[in-house]
Amino acid sequence: MAMVEQKGRAKSTPSERERVLREVNEQSVKFIHLWFTDIEGHLKSFSITPAELEGALDDGMGFDGSSITGFNAIEESDMVAIPDPATFQLMPNGDVKVARMICDVVTPDGEPYDGDPRNVLRRALDRMRSMGFDTFNVGPELEYFLFKDDQGTEPLDEGGYFAMTTMDAASDLRHDTVKALESMGIPIEYVHHEVGPSQHEIDMRYASALDMADHTVTYRLVVKEIAKKAGFHATFMPKPLFGENGSGMHTHQSLFSEGKNAFFDADDEWHLSAVGKAFIAGQLHHAREISAVFAQWVNSYKRLVPGYEAPVYVAWSRRNRSALIRIPLYKPGNEQATRAEIRCPDPACNPYLTFAALLHAGLEGIEKGYELPAPMEQNLYKLSPEERKERGIVALPETLGEAIDELAGSELAKKALGDHVFSSYVKLKRKEWDDYRVQLTPWEMENYLGVL
Ligand code: GLU
Ligand code: MG
Repeated sequence: MAMVEQKGRAKSTPSERERVLREVNEQSVKFIHLWFTDIEGHLKSFSITPAELEGALDDGMGFDGSSITGFNAIEESDMVAIPDPATFQLMPNGDVKVARMICDVVTPDGEPYDGDPRNVLRRALDRMRSMGFDTFNVGPELEYFLFKDDQGTEPLDEGGYFAMTTMDAASDLRHDTVKALESMGIPIEYVHHEVGPSQHEIDMRYASALDMADHTVTYRLVVKEIAKKAGFHATFMPKPLFGENGSGMHTHQSLFSEGKNAFFDADDEWHLSAVGKAFIAGQLHHAREISAVFAQWVNSYKRLVPGYEAPVYVAWSRRNRSALIRIPLYKPGNEQATRAEIRCPDPACNPYLTFAALLHAGLEGIEKGYELPAPMEQNLYKLSPEERKERGIVALPETLGEAIDELAGSELAKKALGDHVFSSYVKLKRKEWDDYRVQLTPWEMENYLGVL
């Protein structure tokens, strides 16, 4: 795509704008949805008619940013959304033809807006380019549950991992979802039932980080909409069922430079280059500080507990799924496939901020030459606290409160998010934690009321 990178946002070329206008005309599109996300990654959308599109492509469309979580307060709330022509896609099967475009948010002077998560990711990619890499490839594996409705957690089936029986009532739904995603230019690789009852996973083919963040917000909407049409509820809540696996968003990552995988070294015992090792070391080193970004909800920390294939301890490994970062062994020694899989993010994160924070943490490791500790191949859940201490293994934050304290004190997080997002995020998430920690839970009532 012939994009001219300019001050943190892609300035589209006249030919790209013409292509979009032509398609709208040829396909008789009636509405164009303009999308962006708030600071927590909720999709925001407003619609324009084709008559407005040319102006929108050139100068953007104004909107009031004061009601968008994490954007500016009322005093400076005029914002402009500029649709990125590369993201033009027809929405799947409606009666009326509707397209969507994802926007960069700018100020009325045309400057990239600091509070726009897409801009946060663009800035991370600028840092990557300044260090000599051209592509950050990511492949997130989003898991989700399907329930009868949004009032409870009644599952549709009791199928387990890779289940392919009539118990898997949701197979057709998964296939419809895949069809819809592919029709929107999102190629899919793996589709399967996950370990939990009524838990599913649809894996998108890896893509560069900005495209993938756009794909991820689209994926969440499409999964939810198709479930809803069938009368069900899809949720990306990290831990909806007590005693069952939660939903993760394991993210496979690699850095490329001129078509070469910078993580690969054929001669290394793990096939990892010095760059790959330092990148992983950076993510391990800063994992606790950016945890509030990749696991942003109170509920995220109910997933990050021992025993459910989710990581708890800050360590890396080749095969061990209890480690935070894994070097998958599916195709050992294959240059294109060499990658680091980070297992702590969950699918309810803001993907723009998550990919930006992960990239910054890895780049920090490369820039500062962090040493990669030895891999931990044993099941880390089984180590005693003393054994972990001996090996220098720390744990992720146990609560959102602890994660926010770590984030608030992190220079790296401040650099990654930028001052505006950093301070609004800390404020917002602290409030979430404060609201939660004063609640009385059924567990307390059951365990205390009668006996204390
Ligand atoms: N659902 C697990 C998690 O919370 C992961 C299961 C898997 O290995 O795919 O991360
Ligand atoms: Mg999975």
